[in-house]
Parts: sequence; structure tokens; C-alpha cells
Amino acid sequence: MTAPERDQFRGGASVAGLSICVFDLDHTLVSSPLDLRAVAREMEAFARGRGVALPPRAQRWSAPELFDLLRREAAHLAPEAIAIPVAHERRAMEHATLEPFAAEALSALKQLGFATAVWTNNDRVVADFVLSRFDLSPHLDLVVTRDDVLRLKPDPDGLRVVRARWPTASSIVVVGDSWVDGLAAQAGGVPFIAYRGDAAELETRGVTVAARISSLLDLPAALGDYQ
Ligand SMILES: [Mg+2]
Repeated sequence: MTAPERDQFRGGASVAGLSICVFDLDHTLVSSPLDLRAVAREMEAFARGRGVALPPRAQRWSAPELFDLLRREAAHLAPEAIAIPVAHERRAMEHATLEPFAAEALSALKQLGFATAVWTNNDRVVADFVLSRFDLSPHLDLVVTRDDVLRLKPDPDGLRVVRARWPTASSIVVVGDSWVDGLAAQAGGVPFIAYRGDAAELETRGVTVAARISSLLDLPAALGDYQ
């Protein structure tokens, strides 16, 4: 079956009716001991150490925000800067575990006719490693990594890649644990379903949540409105 035929099949009578469920990876489908705060602080120290001025603000800078700022303000430092998360991610991926019911939820969504995608700030090497290690790849139609986007979440650029794959999709929903997923979904104009995560942090960051689930088994029901 060709890809368009598969889309037709998944979407039922019409490709235009296709609904897409887009998953964050870390702490949503898999969990690694990646310490995002440690990555951010190391990158912040790197930026300051190289004389890059960080505009003052109340909230601490996240690693993706720092990386985007460095790319804009001091592009020559970008290769060194990206080596910081890469080193953390390579170590963490070896110790990743499967999030409970991730495979079951993906399989259920496929049976319901959803197309499925991953949208992660991790790079392609890490994403492919963990997805194949836990045999999730067969359940996924598209994997968008930081190698595929112009800017990282909370920027919505990854949704551009999703929309390019399914230009006539009738609905796109993002599922993730973090405020960066929520803000990215919001900026891209699609609903966000919060999986676990820090509710107070989501609120502080101004994330509007369409639904909140504490088990991936509850996802098909939460997605009922978007099919
Ligand atoms: Mg996450």
C-alpha cells in the first residue's frame, strides 16, 4: 500500500477527515533520566562564559530557548552549544524506560483511524534509538526531531513539518508533559492534552489545556472530540 493509500484507509472515506495525534517523546512515550534543568543551566553558563548577553527576565531560560538565542545572536557558538544537550541525551537514552501503556495507546489510536507522529526536541539519533528499542516505530507515521525543524519547541515550527506531511488533515492534537509542548501547540493553533507533568508550571507559563490525562490509556477518550 502506498502512503497516500494508507492515509485514505486511515481516514476512512476521505483523506480530509484524517486526525493527527502528535506526541512529545520524553516523559510522554518514553522516560529518560535526562535532566533538562541541568542542560539549561550548563548552556546558560556556556553562553555567559562566551560573553553572550541574556536579556533579563523573571523565568529561567530553557535549553531550547537558549539554543535559539545563541543561534540568533552568536551563530558561531551553535555547534559547541548543541554539544551540551547531545552529551546529556546520549547518556540518558541508554537508561530510558517505556512510559506505561505507550504502545497500547498508540496501537489503539491507529485502530481508531488516527495518524500518529512524534515531535521531539531530541535529535534523530536519540529518537530513533529509543523508538526502535521499545518497538514503537511501527505505530508511528512520522517522527519530527530537532534535525527537521528551524526552531525548537516552544516554537511551533515542528507543526509545519506535520502539516507538510498531511496538508489536508482535519485536526491535529498535541500530547505532552511539558509547558514547552503546550506553548508550542498553542502557538501553532492546535489543542494540547497534558499528560501528567507539572500543572502549576503549565499555568505559570500560560498554557491552556484542552484535557488532562494521568494515563495514556485515557487518551482515546480524551481525543474523542478531535476525531
Ligand atoms: Mg517531554
